[in-house]
Amino acid sequence: MDRSLEPLMDNRTEQLADGVWRVEVTTYVNAYVLANDGCGDAEGLTLVDTGTPRSGPRLVRSIRLMGLDPRAVGDVLLTHWHADHAGSAARFARSSAAPTVWVGEGDLAVVREGLRPPVPPRRDTTALGRPLSRLVPPPPGVPAVSGLADGARLEAAGGIQVVASPGHTPGHLAYLVASRGVLLTGDALLNVLFLSRGPRLLRSARSIEQDTIKRLAGLEFDLLAFGHGPPLLKRARERLAALARVSR
Ligand SMILES: [Zn+2]
Repeated sequence: MDRSLEPLMDNRTEQLADGVWRVEVTTYVNAYVLANDGCGDAEGLTLVDTGTPRSGPRLVRSIRLMGLDPRAVGDVLLTHWHADHAGSAARFARSSAAPTVWVGEGDLAVVREGLRPPVPPRRDTTALGRPLSRLVPPPPGVPAVSGLADGARLEAAGGIQVVASPGHTPGHLAYLVASRGVLLTGDALLNVLFLSRGPRLLRSARSIEQDTIKRLAGLEFDLLAFGHGPPLLKRARERLAALARVSR
């Protein structure tokens, strides 16, 4: 292996809070690692999203760089079915860690059976959104994936609240890690160049997207971490509240 790549690996792994790391698995695509006990892996690790189908080795390397053991991954929480988020879930599910993989109920069939959701109605997407939604391939399937509903609470990482945030996909979930002050937004919000609504091109429900942004803005958190782009560490609540006021 080319040793000159080593610093790059470090640059792609960033600690955001106690026991919370962002891994930029490929340019502008994030996955997150949570240590359930806040520091080490004595009580296991939780992944939020898994990057693309090629991101598994990258994630494993980053977990090792953190000084943790990838075999301690007990849960994989997916924000939605798109293959840049759920892409390596199957790979983790088949690994010796054999974690439980979770996704929102509205996205469950795609991850379990590789069935694409119906093409969204014209009013809910962009002109290109409909043809593109027929082309986007489902991620490698995870037959044993479990569904999560709004309001569910997972014990991992001091308690994770599941927040339904439909719009980008029907079953999209955000995860509030309250004890660490972190809201993981998936693609309900985007921070590529600036904070904005989720990617519009592939969205499946414009009509409910605005409610989602308002809902996220009403939660208690210190920092926002996204599926794409760097985290928002300062004035995150204030900035999301401002977006919720102006976006339509
Ligand atoms: Zn995405």
